[in-house]
Amino acid sequence: MWSTLSVGPAAFIGYLSISTPSSYANSYPITTVLANQLRPYSSTVLPSFIPVVVSSHPPSSSSSTISIRHSSALTMSTPTTTTTTTNNNIDGKAIAAQIRSELRQTVSTLPTPPPGLAVLLVGSRRDSQTYVRMKKKACEEVGIASFGYEYPDTATEEEIVQKVLELNQDDRVHGILVQLPLPAHMDETRVLQAVDPSKDVDGLHPMNTAKLCSTGTHVGVDKLDWTKLQSIPFHIPCTPQGCIELLDRSGVELKGKNAAVIGRSNLVGLPVAMLLMHRDATVTIVHSKTVDAEQVVRNADVVVAAVGRAEMVKKDWIKPGAVVVDVGINSVDDPSSKKGYRLVGDVDYAAVKEVAGMITPVPGGVGPMTIAMLLRNTVNSSVRIAAAKGDKDEK
Ligand code: NAP
Repeated sequence: MWSTLSVGPAAFIGYLSISTPSSYANSYPITTVLANQLRPYSSTVLPSFIPVVVSSHPPSSSSSTISIRHSSALTMSTPTTTTTTTNNNIDGKAIAAQIRSELRQTVSTLPTPPPGLAVLLVGSRRDSQTYVRMKKKACEEVGIASFGYEYPDTATEEEIVQKVLELNQDDRVHGILVQLPLPAHMDETRVLQAVDPSKDVDGLHPMNTAKLCSTGTHVGVDKLDWTKLQSIPFHIPCTPQGCIELLDRSGVELKGKNAAVIGRSNLVGLPVAMLLMHRDATVTIVHSKTVDAEQVVRNADVVVAAVGRAEMVKKDWIKPGAVVVDVGINSVDDPSSKKGYRLVGDVDYAAVKEVAGMITPVPGGVGPMTIAMLLRNTVNSSVRIAAAKGDKDEK
């Protein structure tokens, strides 16, 4: 049910939805919940997706290509094995739908209250409003309770920080997301730092960034299992996590491969480079000051483009057989379309597709994965918070 809320000193339109599937068990033992949660999501759920098709373009003898695990071997592999390619496309839409279905299943085994996500939207940007609506809908689909708080452009930074601090203490809320960008008069860093790192499902708190950037090479430091992203005990930013999940579920082996990441933002480029490194790829980060970016990219077995420049990556940048993940979302004029524009990625898709081993389209590639990973972070968060509370109660 959605209702209008008035919270705190400033009145604003809010929404509240608590969905409680009847299958929630109040007395589910947390150890069982954790075991369920940490189990690789699709190891037991085999999708009815089309088997992998490896590139029909034979690699040149001088090039190394990504090895793709055959679908028959995928049933046993971890963490996840949805192999969804039609020709050489990686179908992010289908993979994200599969993840949502797995999450719905997981959530149905959790005790009440269900995992809860709070989303703060400040201002009237149409794109932000659309993203928030999509997140709310996705929450409903998997049984996550969503709590929406909308503020006008004129809201103060203090108001938002106070709301975040209040949500940090709210037991119904396991994830807090501040929709970016915030209006220019607000200090984004201060607002993001107010979020409790354990509820920072966007993975943007400096504490979570620091953990992502730690390699655990020192004696006595527990090594994390980066092949099971859902087992990582802190929040990984959603879009980068979605990129790796797409590769995993498409059977792309990363170990020992050369990866080029184009872009070094905190939101995408930097975390995706860290994740690729944790998966034992050798990573080069390309940015606006890189000399001869094409040459760097041409050497890569895996290319992740997160630049924000329409169709910048051309066919002759790509080594035949390389896997290309296009994060970019750019709007270009298109008088032939109803809206007068269309969305394209950072990669010249039609041409690059001819040489790539696999490629994500835009739209329908990385985009749907971002929300799927947000949902997964929220579910993981609720399980971790419940486990931590259980430990505390026992003491
Ligand atoms: P950003 O913060 O603007 O960062 C862009 C990065 O690209 C910067 O590191 C910049 O380098 C680099 N760059 C700019 N021009 C370049 C050039 N000519 N050659 C090489 N590198 C260049 O953007 P972002 O937030 O990372 O987003 C990147 C794209 O991904 C955008 O299109 C965005 O809309 C999209 N995106 C999609 C999703 C999704 O869910 N699919 C999520 C987030 C973002 P410097 O650091 O040197 O300036």
